[in-house]
Amino acid sequence: MSEDRFPRAQIEQRLRATEERFRIAQAAGGIGWFEWDLVTDAWEYSTHVAILFGFNPATPRPLFADWQPAIFIDDVPKLRSAVEVAGERGAYYVEFRVTHPDGSVHWIAGRGEITKNATGQARRVAGVYYEISERKALEAQFLALNEGLEARVADRARQLAATAAQLEETERRFHLLIDAVTEYAIFMLDTAGNVVSWNPGAERIKGYSSAEILGQHFSRFYTEDDRRKGLPRTALATAERTGKYEAEGWRCRKDGTTFMANVVINAIRHASGRLLGFAKITRDITEKKAAEEQLRQAQKMEAVGQLTGGVAHDFNNLLTVIMGNLENLDRILPPAPSTQRIIAAALRAASRAAMLTHRLLAFSRRQPLTPEVLSANKLVAGISELLRRTLGESILVETVLAGGLWPTLADGNQLENALINLAINARDAMPEGGKLTIETANTHLDEAYARMHDEVQPGQYVGIFVTDTGIGMTPETVAHAFEPFFTTKEIGQGTGLGLSQVYGFIKQSGGHVKIYSEVGLGTTVKLYLPRYRGTEQAVDEKLETHQLPRGRSELVLVVEDDPDVRDYTVEMVGDLGYSVLSAPDGASALRLLDSHREVSLLFTDVGLPGGMNGRQLAEQALRRQPQLKVLYTTGYARNAIVNQGRLDPAVEVVFKPFTYSDLATKIRHVLEG
Ligand code: ADP
Ligand code: MG
Repeated sequence: MSEDRFPRAQIEQRLRATEERFRIAQAAGGIGWFEWDLVTDAWEYSTHVAILFGFNPATPRPLFADWQPAIFIDDVPKLRSAVEVAGERGAYYVEFRVTHPDGSVHWIAGRGEITKNATGQARRVAGVYYEISERKALEAQFLALNEGLEARVADRARQLAATAAQLEETERRFHLLIDAVTEYAIFMLDTAGNVVSWNPGAERIKGYSSAEILGQHFSRFYTEDDRRKGLPRTALATAERTGKYEAEGWRCRKDGTTFMANVVINAIRHASGRLLGFAKITRDITEKKAAEEQLRQAQKMEAVGQLTGGVAHDFNNLLTVIMGNLENLDRILPPAPSTQRIIAAALRAASRAAMLTHRLLAFSRRQPLTPEVLSANKLVAGISELLRRTLGESILVETVLAGGLWPTLADGNQLENALINLAINARDAMPEGGKLTIETANTHLDEAYARMHDEVQPGQYVGIFVTDTGIGMTPETVAHAFEPFFTTKEIGQGTGLGLSQVYGFIKQSGGHVKIYSEVGLGTTVKLYLPRYRGTEQAVDEKLETHQLPRGRSELVLVVEDDPDVRDYTVEMVGDLGYSVLSAPDGASALRLLDSHREVSLLFTDVGLPGGMNGRQLAEQALRRQPQLKVLYTTGYARNAIVNQGRLDPAVEVVFKPFTYSDLATKIRHVLEG
């Protein structure tokens, strides 16, 4: 049937045509076919295969092995293993390179199929080869491009990482810097005024930990009064408008205490000008202010001294003339009781005036002095007898004389005078009786003290401290007490010249004088005279002195809210040979304890501000450091304190005003007990 429809010639023609078309297709596609009989090793292929391998198609070679030298030596194993692997799979694909006789290199892809016999043995491989050089070139280009890109990306990533590391380093340094600053509170606010960063300086000055304060509004650092006046808002508004706000004023700590602050607020803006927040720097200048105040006081005293001195000097000359003439009159006039009485009265008045001018001269540091090397111990011992007799029975006079006291250079008569003046003031302050203590001690006024007190040279001084248990003075009175004619006593009772004379004399002698006083408790006036370093010996005749028990550099933490009393206490404790830390309240005391585990003794006032009294402070402190020793101080009488349950009867207390010897003995006792 098929014979009929497809005659042989027609079939053959059609076959040829198909073959021709197949050949054209192969040639056009650059495809060559092959067949390899693995049993006979017969190797058949189309012309194009020869072209692909670089052989002359006219001189074909029979064996596959003959083709091999054309194949890149590196690619031969690949080709083999492809065929071997295909042995299991039936088909393979492989890419390899051949070198043409003209030296050119071509990429060829081989795709083949393997025919197996019934036992599964490979018998025949048939397949095609075609050139893929162009694709390979493109691929290589692409790879190169890709690699370049990758390299660039890697490069950029490295750069970014380096920048990030740099940034991190800068930030780390920045934090190191900010964290190292404890002198200044440095922190940032967001645009609304909420705290967003907090440094240790801020923690120290304001008392808040960063955990407590972050996110809180900064107006809490202002006093209630300033808040009511809208100061925080004005400050931010000013900083935003002008870029910077600067002020000095009272600010609050966490515990409610205040400090004099110097505040600078800077607006922080993005490069675009948008407000990002504020940087705030606060400095505690309470001490600086106090030092300035001291300086003002000293300058005032200096000015008053100049004035008084000038007047007194002229007045003294006039008095000399008046008195001389009165005496002349007395001589010249015929003796008559009435005239003699008049002249005597005038002379008495004139000599009182002379005494007054002398005291004024003393204040203005213009009195003639005759300094000698002297022992303060001997002088105090000598005068204490006189005081015991004259002050009366209701006043107990006690002297505590330091052993090994340095000699000093001063006018002995004037020093006696000064002590008598102080004793008289003490008596006036103790109308109901009390105790007067005069102590001597070798002391050292250090740089810090000198900075706070104008005209004080740091160095070694002989201290003479006069303490009474009288009515005490208000800070206002203390501020004016040294001024001539300042008195709080009734007319006829006080001249207001006692302390001014003491002041002038001590200053003229190169020394220093300071009052510590608490209303209702008593007063200590401390005189410091410079240590005499010459070879001349002060005569310290068989004087009975006793050595105060001294510290061995143990660390004492003094907690006292009154700044004057605190300074005074710190100074005393330091003088006694201890190392000293101080705090104004319980919270800051606990912080100090945390950072100074070596504190041996907590010496605290019973009444403290800020919601933690001395007893509660001691409890908390002992919980942290069970071996810590505690000594209390208070202005109240022991009974009042113990009975009200404010203190345990067993605790150690030293009562205000305490003297050097009180303190020396008590501290040693507590430390060793
Ligand atoms: P006067 O004793 O003549 O008043 P002073 O110069 O001696 O003058 O003292 C000035 C003022 O200082 C006194 O009026 C008093 O208010 C105060 N004062 C001095 N010493 C003491 C003291 N020991 N206790 C309390 N107040 C004192
Ligand atoms: Mg007086």
